Amino acid sequence: MLIVMHHSASEEQIDQVISAVQSMGLQAEPIPGSLRTAIGVLGNQGYVDDSTIRNLPGVRETIHVSKPYKLVSRDFHPASTEVTVRSAVFGDNRPPVIIAGPCSIESEEQMLEAARTVKAAGGQMLRGGAFKPRTGPHSFQGLGVEGLKYLRLAGDATELPVVTEVMRIEQLDAVCKHADMLQIGARNMQNFDLLKEVGRLDHPVLLKRGMSATLEEFLAAAEYIVAEGNGNVVLCERGIRTFERATRNTLDLSVVPLIRDMSHLPIIVDPSHATGKRSLVPVMAKAALVAGAHGLMIEVHPDPATALCDGAQSLDGDGFSALMGQIGGLQDYLRTH
Ligand code: PEP
Ligand code: MN
Repeated sequence: MLIVMHHSASEEQIDQVISAVQSMGLQAEPIPGSLRTAIGVLGNQGYVDDSTIRNLPGVRETIHVSKPYKLVSRDFHPASTEVTVRSAVFGDNRPPVIIAGPCSIESEEQMLEAARTVKAAGGQMLRGGAFKPRTGPHSFQGLGVEGLKYLRLAGDATELPVVTEVMRIEQLDAVCKHADMLQIGARNMQNFDLLKEVGRLDHPVLLKRGMSATLEEFLAAAEYIVAEGNGNVVLCERGIRTFERATRNTLDLSVVPLIRDMSHLPIIVDPSHATGKRSLVPVMAKAALVAGAHGLMIEVHPDPATALCDGAQSLDGDGFSALMGQIGGLQDYLRTH
């Protein structure tokens, strides 16, 4: 870390900063300049918490040289990680894993029908939410444990591994019992207690990017899980909040190649929540694969018009089959170009 002092900083203020750095067990190296003094911080193993130093008198800014994550970075672990969820494998040189299914589990019949549609079209994993993070308290909140059972039944009937969201630590036992992969949703990306708890489990984790999270914060969240011992983390870009209201969120596709470069973890894209519009899902799904995504998460509902949640962004069976056909053609193209 580099601490840049104000040009008017006094000797006493510089000394106070040096003492503060030393009291953290680190070395401080003053670098006098013609306009201002900078202080180099040496001896740290990783990211330095600069909250005290930033607020000392005379400090203009602190510049981090090392990142708040290490275990998930490619510098630390150059080989790409493969994450296996029963028959589905996320990784380099693997076909993209297509996860599909309804936003919410609504009934046993709905889940079975969705699963058969996903399977018939060539999807590799089944999704469905039992615990739903809804913006308003009057919206359908999910079927809870009953829904988890329908998801498991539908997954078993079609031999598709299943992923579902866990919102609270208290739900972990039930979700682990019924699901093959745990989803941490955008709203919980920085629920650090939940991240640490799933880090202590063996279940693979699908970590979605928070809607206002920077790339650095996203990777730091993944670091929480990996630091506890669970290295089976798949990242998911699902759109971020910007000034643009024409789409539900703004799909930040550039993070796909950036994450592939910066981290060894697989990265998938969810064009359904990113766009909020059924008509945009196929094209953005294909764009994500061109950008290098290791998979996709697509909302598919047997009858989107009656969906209890996110019908406007859900594909029906025909729409999903058509997309899967196009993805097949695109994979052939990408293999040869
Ligand atoms: C979901 O995938 O069901 C979901 C709620 O997505 P997100 O957390 O990205 O909003
Ligand atoms: Mn949804």
